Parts: sequence; C-alpha cells; structure tokens
Amino acid sequence: MLDCAIIGGGPAGLTAGLYATRGGLRNVTMFETGMPGGQITQSSEIENYPGFFEHDKTGMDFMDGWQKQCFHFGLKHEMKKVERVAKTGEYFTVTLEGGETAEAKTVIVCTGSTPKRAGFKGEDAFFGKGVSTCATCDGFFYKGKPVTVLGGGDTALEEAYYLSNIVSDVYLVHRRDTFRAAPSTVERVMKKENIHPVLDSVVDEVLGDAMGVTSVRVKNVKTNETKILETPGLFVFVGHDVNNGVLKDVNSGFICEMNDWGQVKVDLSMRTSVEGLFAAGDLRIEAPKQVVVAAGDGATAALQVISYIQEQA
Ligand code: FAD
Ligand code: NAP
Repeated sequence: MLDCAIIGGGPAGLTAGLYATRGGLRNVTMFETGMPGGQITQSSEIENYPGFFEHDKTGMDFMDGWQKQCFHFGLKHEMKKVERVAKTGEYFTVTLEGGETAEAKTVIVCTGSTPKRAGFKGEDAFFGKGVSTCATCDGFFYKGKPVTVLGGGDTALEEAYYLSNIVSDVYLVHRRDTFRAAPSTVERVMKKENIHPVLDSVVDEVLGDAMGVTSVRVKNVKTNETKILETPGLFVFVGHDVNNGVLKDVNSGFICEMNDWGQVKVDLSMRTSVEGLFAAGDLRIEAPKQVVVAAGDGATAALQVISYIQEQA
C-alpha cells in the first residue's frame, strides 16, 4: 500500500514528491508516462522563475535537478501511464496501462494541461521560435514590437490585453465577426487603442527564417483575400485540453467535482471534493499555468497529504 500515489511528473508532481518524501512519507510513487519534467521541457528558455535568469539553459536542463533531488529523498518513479483512479472504500486504486493496479492511501493528480494547436502551416516548425502559447512566458521578448494573437475566446482576449501593455501593437485575429469571450472582456479589449481586431480571418501560414518568425499571412474566410502582418511573434490561444482522463469513472463521469471546462475544483489546500484525493498544477481551476505556481501547488498538496495521513492513523 502506497502512502501517496502522484500522477504526473511535471513541476507539480516532482515538487509534491519532494515534499512528501522529505516530510517523512516512506512509500511514495510518482507515475509518469515518460521522462519526468513536464511540458516545460519543450521550452528552450525559462521565464518567470524567481532567482533564475540565465538564458543559456533549456527547460530540459532546468528540470534535470528537480528529479535528482526527489529521487535522492526516496521518491520512486514508475514510467507508466495511469488509466484511472478510483476510490474503493477507504483507499484508492490506481489502474495503469496494461491493467496492473496499485493501492494508495492518498492520490495527488498532477497531469497538467495541453494547449491546443490551431493547425496552420508553419505552426509546428516555428513553435518556440516565434509561435507561442504563453504570453506571460514570452511576451517580454516582443517589448515595443507588434505581435499577432489568434483566437476569440476569453484566454485570447485576456492575453491580448496583457500583451498590449508590453508590445507596440496587437493584431487580434479571429475566425468570426463576434467574439466568444465574455462581453465585459470584449468591451475592455476593444477600448485599447493598440489592439487591432482582424475579424473573419484565420492564420494561413506563419513565415520566417532560421532566426524565427518574421511575419504572419492571414486569410479572410469570407473574401479569401490574404494579407501579411509584419509581426515577429504569434500567440495562439485556441483552447486547452485539460489532462483529466484519469479522473473519469467507468460511465465517463468524473469521480470528483470539476468546473464546466473540465478543470478540477480544489480548495486552497489542493483538496478535491473526494477525501484523500488532491489535484495540483495546470489541471486545477484558475491555474495561472506557470512553473512556480505548479510547484507551489505540489508542495501545498503534499503537506496536506502528510496531515491527512497523520489524522487517519
Ligand atoms: P505538466 O508540466 O503538464 O506535467 C504533467 C505531466 O503529467 C507530464 O509530464 C505528463 O507526461 C504527465 N501525465 C499526463 N497524463 C498522465 C497519465 N495519464 N499518466 C502518467 N503521467 C501523465 N511556465 C513558466 O513559468 N515559465 C516559462 O517560461 C514557461 N514556458 C513554457 C513554454 C512552453 C513551450 C510550454 C508548453 C509551457 C511553458 N510554461 C512556462 C508553462 C509551464 O510549463 C506549466 O505551467 C507547468 O509545466 C505546469 O506543470 P504541471 O506539473 O501542472 O503539468
Ligand atoms: P475557447 O473558449 O474554446 O476559445 C477558443 C477560441 O479559439 C474560439 O474563439 C475559437 O473560435 C478559436 N479557435 C478554436 N480553434 C481554432 C482554430 N483551429 N483556428 C482559429 N481559431 C480557433 O478557449 P479559451 O479561450 O482558452 O477558454 C476556455 C474556457 O475557459 C472557456 O470556457 C472560457 O470562458 C474559460 N476562461 C474563462 C476566463 C475567465 O472567466 N476570466 C479566462 C480564460 C478562460 P470560435 O469562437 O469561432 O469557436
């Protein structure tokens, strides 16, 4: 019987593992599909991590020490995909790919979320070289320069607003002539003089060279006319997939409370609506989707797990 099963080995899962093992729990296993590190390992640079401002380290380099530290204190890693978590009486059953199971007193789910891709030409080739899904991380690179933002939902409009305080101009490209975002957000964004809506339009192709993006070709979906936006940055906000599959029950409902967008409802201690089940990082409600926050969530959840186990003993 595990004291704690941690699902996902990104910043939230690794930090949960560190705090759980250093806090005295002996039997803690982190289930992670691949190598630990999470989505930040796809990034060529790290922004917004306090005390860390070297730009010569990749996300992979940055996360290397995190796993070493956890394993040093006794965290076990099983490189396995978790299919499902279920509460069976007092304890949890974690079902792994292939059908094997593990029993645990507590579970911390840290499976993150995945920004969706829009599917235009050049998106994958220039991802991380001018195409970004994180304004907080990458907005500063375009200080005083123009950028393109793609999307018409709350995230696109809120991030366009955030960027408009850093960059010179924001071209807000949306495939329809009305925005999906909340009317109050649309009103606030439309008042910004340096945000320019490009409506009924999609990104046709992102153009660039070895140095990265140089411009973005957009196409009006009603007239088929194309035009070039001379922007070195393109931010894509076309929705997120929350990696919440492990919390689905056999009837495709969820074992704990979620919000309408599939994010896990937690309190300030990262407790879900199910006793002994915690969620941390990008998959929880109102997640700012930053490494420092995911790590903080993981620490909070692990400290709460320790108290929970002590109370149950
Ligand atoms: P994740 O990092 O998404 O980790 C979740 C882990 O769970 C993954 O390793 C995944 O393999 C695993 N997993 C998922 N499902 C299962 C399953 N069923 N079974 C087992 N394992 C599973 N933030 C910053 O603060 N600064 C930055 O500069 C920055 N740059 C970024 C650049 C890019 C390109 C991207 C994509 C993100 C960036 N972010 C940045 C955001 C940051 O990476 C995330 O906020 C952070 O990684 C979230 O941590 P997490 O632990 O919640 O989830
Ligand atoms: P979203 O609401 O799904 O919006 C995605 C946007 O991208 C839509 O405008 C959509 O266009 C567009 N889009 C999707 N695929 C595209 C493609 N391939 N090419 C071009 N455009 C594409 O996603 P979100 O903005 O990330 O928000 C997710 C949820 O979180 C929403 O329910 C949102 O309300 C919520 N949220 C709330 C807040 C808040 O309350 N403050 C903040 C952020 C997010 P269409 O409109 O034409 O479909």
